[in-house]
Amino acid sequence: MPVDPVCGIELDEDLALPHEYKDKKLYFCCDGCRKLFIKKPGKFKKNI
Ligand SMILES: [Zn+2]
Repeated sequence: MPVDPVCGIELDEDLALPHEYKDKKLYFCCDGCRKLFIKKPGKFKKNI
């Protein structure tokens, strides 16, 4: 199961919000988390 790198929640791939980052497909629980990641990927990339 994919994990949201911002808040650490395990996600259902079908319901999560996808985002491409350096050829990796990431998933987020909500648009808020996705925006946080896009703003500061360096802060969260250790969780990928
Ligand atoms: Zn989240």
